[in-house]
Amino acid sequence: MKIGITGCAGRMGQMLVREVLVTDGCTLAGGSEGPGHTAIGQDVAQTAGLEECGIAITDNSDALFAASDAVIDFTIAQVTEGHARFTKKYGTNFILGTTGHDESQLASIEAASAHVPIVKAMNFSVGVNLLFALTKQLAGTLDEDFDIEIVEMHHRHKVDAPSGTALGLAQAAADGRGVDLNHVVDRGRDGITGERRRGHIGLAALRGGDVVGEHDVVFAGPSERIKISHMAASREIFARGAVRAALWSADVNPGLYSMLDVLGFSDGDT
Ligand code: NAD
Repeated sequence: MKIGITGCAGRMGQMLVREVLVTDGCTLAGGSEGPGHTAIGQDVAQTAGLEECGIAITDNSDALFAASDAVIDFTIAQVTEGHARFTKKYGTNFILGTTGHDESQLASIEAASAHVPIVKAMNFSVGVNLLFALTKQLAGTLDEDFDIEIVEMHHRHKVDAPSGTALGLAQAAADGRGVDLNHVVDRGRDGITGERRRGHIGLAALRGGDVVGEHDVVFAGPSERIKISHMAASREIFARGAVRAALWSADVNPGLYSMLDVLGFSDGDT
C-alpha cells in the first residue's frame, strides 16, 4: 500500500513518515505541507530525522492524494473539507487523526465516506481503544455494587482537566451501564461531599512532571477491586495505530470507521 502523509513536517507528521518507512506492507507515497511552509522542497524522510529518501515535500495535496492508496492526515481542521474532496476524487482511503472539526467539516467527511473507506479517531492508540472497549464491557458486566472511578495523570503543562480520553472512558462506562453520563458523573471531589452515590462514575485528575498520559479505570466492589490501566510513553502510539488503520482499510468497503472497527470491536459505539 502506498501511503501519503499530509502535514508531514508537523509533530505527528514526522512520526507518521518514520512509521510508514519501518512498517511492512507499505511504502511512502510522499508528503505534503501547507502553502508557504519552510519544509516544502526538502526531503520528506530527512525532515523526519532520517536518511534522505529522494521524495521532496510538496504543497500540492491534490497530487499526493492521486499518488497514494491511502493518505494519513494529522493537520488542521480547516483543510479537511479540501482533503475530503481529494479522497473522493481519487478513491484514496483516508485516515483522519486531525481533531477540532465543526459541523460542516464533519458533514464533508461523512459525505466522502459514501465513496471511500475513511477511518476517523480522536485517539489512534491501539491500547487506549482497547481500554475503551474493556471499560464498556466491564461496566456492563459488573452491577452498581462496583463503584467506577477514573483517574488520569498528565504532564504539568496540560491546561484542561479531566483529559478528553478520561471523559471518553467515563462515557464508555456509562454506555456499558446504559445510563446518561450527565446524570451520574462526579467530576473531582473537594470538601464535605457526602457519601459516594451508588451508580455514579467518578473522575479525578493528577498533574505533574512530563507524564505523557496515564489512565486507570477502577471498579471497586465489595471485597474486591478491578483496575485496568493504560500508560502512554510517547506520541508514537498514535502513529503506529494510524498506519495499522491504513493497512486495515485496504480490505473494507466505503464507509466511516473508527479505531474500534480496526481492532474488531464491530459495534463501533464503544
Ligand atoms: P502540528 O502543528 O505539529 O502539525 C500539523 C501540520 O499540518 C503542520 O506541519 C502544518 O504546517 C500542516 N498543515 C497545515 N495546513 C496544511 C495543508 N493545507 N496541507 C498539508 N499540511 C498542512 O500538530 P500535531 O501535534 O502534529 O497535531 C496535528 C493534529 O493531529 C491536531 O489536530 C491534533 O489534535 C491531532 N492529533 C490527533 C491524535 C489522534 O490520535 N487522533 C493524536 C495526536 C494529535
